[in-house]
Amino acid sequence: MFILKNSNKITVNSVEEMIAFAKKLGSGLKPGSILTLEGELAAGKTTFTKGLALGLGIEDVIDSPTFAIVKEYEGGRIPLFHMDVYRLDGDSDIEFLLEYFDRGGACVVEWASIIENDLPDDCINVSIENLGGDVREIIISASKEDLMYVDFSN
Ligand code: ADP
Ligand code: MG
Repeated sequence: MFILKNSNKITVNSVEEMIAFAKKLGSGLKPGSILTLEGELAAGKTTFTKGLALGLGIEDVIDSPTFAIVKEYEGGRIPLFHMDVYRLDGDSDIEFLLEYFDRGGACVVEWASIIENDLPDDCINVSIENLGGDVREIIISASKEDLMYVDFSN
């Protein structure tokens, strides 16, 4: 059982474990959920998003949206809007991105701190740290407890 409280810390030891964990979280995302992803280059933000997509029932290949800024995936339980704001260029791009938050999908934002002043208040914040090799520490926090409920018992 995993209930999102103020903060949760999990360690995964492989890509497969990372995806399996994120898949469980993805199953708990709701229309309008916004999940922010922090972590160095190659920490595993895009890999984590692949798991989220599986949890939403999306079977498309998820690749980095760094150059596109945002990629849209339909065909799951709800749409997935996968953003990477690392290369965001100017305020006009921000306006364009903010519209996605109201479209009834799950929004995932890599490098979210770059636009932190423009993010809605109620986000699920995920930070990933590379502990060496394939080991990653995932810290999940949220402003409110009821943003997500995930049952890890099965
Ligand atoms: P980011 O989006 O944070 O830049 P990516 O997910 O694109 O990171 O890349 C993560 C890299 O680290 C991939 O090459 C992946 O194979 C590798 N990796 C090794 N172990 C893990 C793990 N436990 N979780 C996620 N990625 C891992
Ligand atoms: Mg990435």
